Amino acid sequence: MSDIASLDLATQTRDLLSSLGVDDRRLSAQGLAITVRSPVNGQTLGHVASATVEETNAAIERAHGAFLTWRRIPAPRRGELVRLLGEELRANKDALGRLVSIEVGKSPSEGLGEVQEMIDICDFAVGLSRQLCGLTIATERAEHRMMETWHPIGVVGVISAFNFPVAVWAWNAALALVCGDSVVWKPSEKTPLTAIATDAILRRAITRFNASGDAAPDGLAELAVGGRETGAALVAHPRVPLVSATGSTEMGRIVGRELASRFGRAILELGGNNAAIVTPSADLDLALRGVAFAAMGTAGQRCTTLRRLFVHSSVYDAFVPRLKAAFSSVSVGSPLEGHLVGPLIDHAALERMQEALAAAMELGATVHGGERVDVGAPQAFYARPALVETPVHDGPVLDETFAPILYVLPYDDLEDAISLQNDVPQGLSSAIFTTDLREAELFLSARGSDCGIANVNIGTSGAEIGGAFGGEKATGGGRESGSDSWKGYMRRATNTINYGRDLPLAQGVTFDVG
Ligand code: NAD
Repeated sequence: MSDIASLDLATQTRDLLSSLGVDDRRLSAQGLAITVRSPVNGQTLGHVASATVEETNAAIERAHGAFLTWRRIPAPRRGELVRLLGEELRANKDALGRLVSIEVGKSPSEGLGEVQEMIDICDFAVGLSRQLCGLTIATERAEHRMMETWHPIGVVGVISAFNFPVAVWAWNAALALVCGDSVVWKPSEKTPLTAIATDAILRRAITRFNASGDAAPDGLAELAVGGRETGAALVAHPRVPLVSATGSTEMGRIVGRELASRFGRAILELGGNNAAIVTPSADLDLALRGVAFAAMGTAGQRCTTLRRLFVHSSVYDAFVPRLKAAFSSVSVGSPLEGHLVGPLIDHAALERMQEALAAAMELGATVHGGERVDVGAPQAFYARPALVETPVHDGPVLDETFAPILYVLPYDDLEDAISLQNDVPQGLSSAIFTTDLREAELFLSARGSDCGIANVNIGTSGAEIGGAFGGEKATGGGRESGSDSWKGYMRRATNTINYGRDLPLAQGVTFDVG
């Protein structure tokens, strides 16, 4: 193993940013600045200027002006800009993926996977740009036509979390841009560098778009780097009719309330407390791989990470010891050197993990793993994933701890397991491992999982962009990415047109003034 403490990630970061067209002076901000560290070895990567509230408000005003122009450009032309963005992302996939790995601590394949997700949503949005459509609805009045039209909504505020620092922006921005909206993005204060790099990639796409004879208005896509105050300015601004906010349930509670108070729209993508059920008929080899990746991948820092596992008592002894072996043998260390479990984002995350494990032990749980792993870099926080056999579905089991902890409980009756699975505040992702059709269909039925995502023989994490992504209850209820999520980025008008000479009123009402 190389000495990760002396790995010069700061120089690599400067080189990557400069290859992506970012002036390296942006890493040496003075005054109101955010210090960016790599969780891989704790090294400081740079200091990035933070937007003031005034600067954020000015960005919103620019975006509003841009929206007034952009909404007049035909949607397929707007799609052309997103097509070019997809091309630029393809061309810069390696550099941006590497930067994601350095700034968030993801493995190279996960860093690249995140950029691939951006490319995929661009492809989806380009197709969508020729398919934005409304219904024609039968009317009760003769010689009338009733229909729905969908119009751009305005400035879309995007607030993103650290763990998918760029894909979440793309999920929102690609759709918003083809829908005719402008975008102001407030990335996580823990990951501003990947946001700055993505913004530079978008600028390149805009330059090519403008060279092809179109004109993307100034302010079409703004970046406001900053902390909560910057996000709060976006949420408060009356010129932002929609905010798509991804992060903790705690954040969503504040943002949702603020938006509701001014009748702003929200797409909230918040915390999950995802569960899987392993039934007696499950293919245990497949289940083992599905559970292991979902629980330990990205060091447990995905909103869809598997956090609770219900195993039927008849297969508990055949399955759980194998899972324990996988937890105790998985390689923990620098993701840049091929280890499967990388770092937690910061010291606070490690502390919260240890607190949750202590609370579980107090309730009688047996904890396997979970200890800090020394990688020779004191400012980097790695932990062995914890498998926790718990006798109770209570205490920390009901919370989302953003770390690799899997609580395991035996069950005897599938309906009881489904009921426990649903008995948490969050409702994001869920899975069942079974080869029994009846069990699978029950799980997917109205009596089954209450989550926005319910899978069969696949883990809880790793969604594709084609489906609508999001969850119920304390996960916020938002949907983004595929399917008809685009409707969230537009406003709907119902139009009724009378092409006759009479004026029949609806419901047979008469009002004869002549
Ligand atoms: P976080 O809530 O700490 O921060 C998320 C973003 O919200 C950041 O940009 C932050 O600056 C901003 N923010 C925080 N408070 C705010 C406020 N009062 N007003 C405006 N903006 C505010 O979350 P995090 O630690 O970056 O990310 C981890 C969390 O995100 C987990 O709970 C995870 O489950 C969730 N997440 C959810 C999804 C999903 O799609 N459901 C996806 C990724 C992450």
